[in-house]
Amino acid sequence: MPLFSHGETLGILRVRPEIEGQSLPAELRETLPAVARQVALALAGLRLQERLHQQAIRDPLTGLFNRRHLEEALASAGAHAAATGEPLSLIALDVDHFKRFNDTFGHEAGDAVLVRVGAALRDLVPPGAVPARPGGEEFTLLLPGLDTGAAAELAERLRETVAGWSLSHAGMALGQVTVSLGVAALGVHAPAPDGLPRVADEALYAAKAAGRNRVVIARGAEAGSPGVLAY
Ligand code: GH3
Ligand code: MG
Ligand code: MG
Repeated sequence: MPLFSHGETLGILRVRPEIEGQSLPAELRETLPAVARQVALALAGLRLQERLHQQAIRDPLTGLFNRRHLEEALASAGAHAAATGEPLSLIALDVDHFKRFNDTFGHEAGDAVLVRVGAALRDLVPPGAVPARPGGEEFTLLLPGLDTGAAAELAERLRETVAGWSLSHAGMALGQVTVSLGVAALGVHAPAPDGLPRVADEALYAAKAAGRNRVVIARGAEAGSPGVLAY
């Protein structure tokens, strides 16, 4: 029996019309359409619930997590890190001179760049990481299990990847896009998880001030990897 809801087939209910060699009693068989309707309604409810949940936690442009989910993930990853002693890092990423980019190439081309950056984050982060777009042309990567060094290496890989693109939109070459990144780790640069975004942001601003298209580790870091500044 097809499971229909709102004109859509959600599944098939397969019924064996016999019990131990005896065919189903007629009154039981007559209830089957009603059972199928109930199951279909329940499935449709679950699908709607999942769709609404995804809408509530995702940024519609890039499909990455939004600020709301990032804050929740930060709290739970912070609690996990505190309980296990495992490292927890955060990368703040901001597209360089994005206002100028929009002014030159148009908002639509700007959106296409944001989508592309979002896809790069999703592709390059390790399993368990939380790639988010909390707003505008700013992205955040929450990295459970990564210490400062590993997070800085990932940040540098992201920077290099974006800087290596030759993008075009609607047949128009867009020139080089670059990003600046700030890296911070729990316990090293911030005592509590809710302080991590701020210290990573401060490092990001330092990267902007130092000329953009670079990675900076938050103040108080050990020696950085080559090509990565600590301030
Ligand atoms: P900086 O290198 O210092 O970061 O300079 P910037 O121009 O990137 O920074 P600023 O904060 O001055 O400008 C951010 C711009 O990002 C302004 C805004 O129009 C643009 N922006 C924010 N959200 C979106 C979006 O969803 N789509 C597009 N196309 N542009 C956006
Ligand atoms: Mg910017
Ligand atoms: Mg910005």
